[in-house]
Amino acid sequence: METKDQGWRKPFAATRELNRIMADYYYELDRAVKTGTQKIAWCSSVGPAELLRALGFLVYFPENHWAMLGASRMATDCIPEANAVGYSPDICSYLTADIGAYLKGVTPLSKSYPGIERVPRPDVLVFNTNQCRDVQDWFSWYARTLQVPIWGVYTHCGVKEVTEAHVSSVARQMEELIEPLAKISGVRFDPDRLRAVLAWSRECSDLWKQVLDTAAAVPSPITFFDGTIHMGPAVVLRGTPQAVTYYRQLLEELEERVQNHVAAVEGERFRLYWEGMPVWGRLSAHAQLFARLRANVLASTYCNSWIFSSFDPEDPFRSMARAYTELFIVRSEDYKESYIRRMIDFFHIHGIIFHDAKTCPNNSNNRYGMPRRIQEATGLPTLILHGDLNDLRLLSDEQTQTNVEAFIEQLEEGG
Ligand code: SF4
Repeated sequence: METKDQGWRKPFAATRELNRIMADYYYELDRAVKTGTQKIAWCSSVGPAELLRALGFLVYFPENHWAMLGASRMATDCIPEANAVGYSPDICSYLTADIGAYLKGVTPLSKSYPGIERVPRPDVLVFNTNQCRDVQDWFSWYARTLQVPIWGVYTHCGVKEVTEAHVSSVARQMEELIEPLAKISGVRFDPDRLRAVLAWSRECSDLWKQVLDTAAAVPSPITFFDGTIHMGPAVVLRGTPQAVTYYRQLLEELEERVQNHVAAVEGERFRLYWEGMPVWGRLSAHAQLFARLRANVLASTYCNSWIFSSFDPEDPFRSMARAYTELFIVRSEDYKESYIRRMIDFFHIHGIIFHDAKTCPNNSNNRYGMPRRIQEATGLPTLILHGDLNDLRLLSDEQTQTNVEAFIEQLEEGG
């Protein structure tokens, strides 16, 4: 989706390059479908993308499409179509929006990238349940509807420490994918190719982390809302040199901002942490709301989810297994709490916002007392915003505004 910097956001020069590489990515997929030159694998956002690239697939990440459905505000109209074929309004609204869009025959890709009429037809669907079970059910719908083979990696959940047993189990499952996937792509598995792809992914991940870490500067040169847009290449182009080149450019720009004390939110008074999913259809409205109050929501668990620091090209399968199991969403409540507390310290945070996304229990961490526990342990105020990632019927803009304003008043009064 073409990203236009608007008044409330301090524009990044790198945005032009972001738009170019994202357009190239989608047009390459579209060409491959139309010409039949290369096989296409759909991969869940934290699925084994490196293996798929090494086996010669072009990789399509539906999660980016789901987010585009939300950001373009098409999602709310599409969700009832999926409800009508039996998918509950209470399950993931990425899933229901995406299936609904497919049934309606619409896609935001057509608007952003003229000439693209539909999402690229998959030759195979590959998921990892590390994110949640919804990806499995959602990919399964496409497998049945399009009669396409489907493969999955099943990851443990609620993991406190990532142990040898977790790593071996996931690594073995990934290795077992080689044979069936190579049959579909027609490309023989080459371990050196996998190492090269993994090296690109690791570099992309390291650069993306450095980009996000610039928010520790006071004032912060970046907002969470910028992060949700600039994370596109970390999701869909990891494992390619394009993503690495892009993040070098963005990092350079951010470092220059830090050096010159350029604030992403003019007159930054308060520094906030966002826990949970973004509200895609309200990114711009939320960014404006906080900027008007001179509060910068500058860091999040969500954007950090595409940091895979354990990738090691010398030990590809085990390091992929570890990196994809170390993710925040896979971990135990204790681990999550300590992770957020580390982030609070690192980014010099004054308050935390928990987004309770109605249709995403997997990534709403306010439901079992965590805000209260963190507040008691750190003395920092927390705010719970009730809403959703894609279904705009599940949020009230007035309520959000009132709650955010009251929260900022509380911060003004010293917590
Ligand atoms: S983590 Fe949440 S938003 Fe993501 S696919 Fe699962 S239920 Fe949907």
